[in-house]
Amino acid sequence: MDNAATTPISPEVLEGMMPYLKGHFGNASGIYATGRDARQAVDEARKQVAQLIGCKPGEVYFTSGGTESDNWALKGIAFANRNKGNHIITSAIEHPAVLETAKWLETQGFEVSYLMPDASGIINPDEVEKAITDRTILISIMAANNEIGALQPVAAIGALARARKIPFHTDAVQAVGAIPVDVKAWQADLLSLSGHKFGAPKGIGALYVRTGTRITPLLHGGAQERNRRAGTENVPGIVGLGLAAARAGQGIEEKTARITALRNRLIDGIMDAISHVRLNGDRNSRLPNNANLSFRFIEGEALLLHLDLNGIAASSGSACASGSLEPSHVLLSMGLDAEEAHSSLRFTLSEATTEEEINTVLGVLPGIVDKLRAMSPLAS
Ligand code: PLP
Repeated sequence: MDNAATTPISPEVLEGMMPYLKGHFGNASGIYATGRDARQAVDEARKQVAQLIGCKPGEVYFTSGGTESDNWALKGIAFANRNKGNHIITSAIEHPAVLETAKWLETQGFEVSYLMPDASGIINPDEVEKAITDRTILISIMAANNEIGALQPVAAIGALARARKIPFHTDAVQAVGAIPVDVKAWQADLLSLSGHKFGAPKGIGALYVRTGTRITPLLHGGAQERNRRAGTENVPGIVGLGLAAARAGQGIEEKTARITALRNRLIDGIMDAISHVRLNGDRNSRLPNNANLSFRFIEGEALLLHLDLNGIAASSGSACASGSLEPSHVLLSMGLDAEEAHSSLRFTLSEATTEEEINTVLGVLPGIVDKLRAMSPLAS
């Protein structure tokens, strides 16, 4: 129940990668046979990723994952457009891969506006429009939030960015593979995606860069990725990403409908059986696989530990934030108080999630909540 943190490698993906981990080990820059094999496999994967997000293969650049793609998008656009201005618009609910990069850019002379969401975790395009100045050189708003699953109005934001010729980046790490993604409909100039969120291995991702977008490289070195991202290609990872993209695109509407139904049964089952629970984020404007709930009077971390004892993996906020005692920056920015934010729990399903797994959670969670509330000084 923690598929937003990561997913297992799909068996077909692993099988497709194996030849490139064994015999076909060539460097994709080599001109001999094993090199040519590797190059062909990389080209095929580029087409598969392009097809999933609706762009041209030449607009896909392979990276080491979502974090690198986000870093490259923000730093690459900021430095390429320094002569035009120094203002960047993003939101307060972004993943740390965007937020920390934006904060670092502030130390380099850039100014950043961090827009606040509404109570359901959604950024209003009117707020984006109001924040634009004649110094704005980048708008970066995520497609779907990793903690509460809130879907952002990226098409509306993309439209107003395009009308003003301001590059628009969207971190779609949680969206790609989970919902249909179309960079043209969203009018995105840059889009980040990460393989391990949808059945490919960890450490492989991509950045879509629309033709004609000026971007400074993040990694300097060899001429790989059309001189824009140096480093010997991770051929097995790239092959895995391509295969996972091809799989993700198949029957996405049906998969989404099935996962939404399971997720709704989970939310309804929890809310029927347990008192003082709130669903964080809008019921409908959210990723099909996400349920984020606050359980008054108890700590999400305590719930997690008890669920783990029952063999259930969930998350309290994002994986990157767990271990820190800071309440979720996303929930706080939606107006929750620190206690409500601390009492949150995130369940994220996948296409492999079964009815039985939902039943297991619904079977054990009420008892765990009762037990923890009985011990909680806040509940008395
Ligand atoms: N952006 C979002 C929205 C994420 O959820 C994540 C990972 O949790 C990342 C970026 C970072 O991706 P990666 O783990 O591939 O570095």
